[in-house]
Amino acid sequence: MKATKTVLSPANLQSVIPAQAGIHTEHPITRSMDPRMREDDGSEDGGFDEEQVAGWLAQIPDPEIPAISITDLGIVRGVRVADDGACHVTITPTYSGCPAMQVIGDAISDALHGRGVLEVVLHTQLAPAWTTDWMTDAGKQKLRNYGIAPPAEQVIDISRLGPASAISRKAPKLGIACPNCGSTHTEVTSQFGSTPCKALYKCLDCREPFDYFKCH
Ligand SMILES: [Zn+2]
Repeated sequence: MKATKTVLSPANLQSVIPAQAGIHTEHPITRSMDPRMREDDGSEDGGFDEEQVAGWLAQIPDPEIPAISITDLGIVRGVRVADDGACHVTITPTYSGCPAMQVIGDAISDALHGRGVLEVVLHTQLAPAWTTDWMTDAGKQKLRNYGIAPPAEQVIDISRLGPASAISRKAPKLGIACPNCGSTHTEVTSQFGSTPCKALYKCLDCREPFDYFKCH
């Protein structure tokens, strides 16, 4: 997985907690009285609430697949605007040590600072672990439109549950649908596509190769 490095301003560096730092309980925020924040006292916390912040987060593209947002990916666990106006964002890495998480943290800080949020505090929550089930339906559709087969629903093989001799029909095979033509007549050509999260498939009907976002 390649993580393109973004330029960090000193302010952002301060507010980013490395993803590998683990689970954070309430992070003590320096309550040194920033004069800008004192002026905000009495007003509505600088004029933004959790819903607005969530909406801003929904516009941040995933660094690996810019076609979907980090919200579509399902890694944003929580948003909280504290009384002092600091914005706390909790994210769950797609997998432990994913290098893209640092990039995502920077992108969140940049986006919120750009909206006038003075203090952004990132929290990393490792449990429960992220799975592809957390990806939104809208996100899966965007992946499809982008030419990547979204993670398949987990399919339980029921073929062995009944009396084996009584049932002769074959167990339905988990077919990954081709994002080009929708055919499930596809085969895997490589377990690793452009990133470790993806496998390379080929459609046997339209002959197009495509990436499949693996379940995990
Ligand atoms: Zn096809």
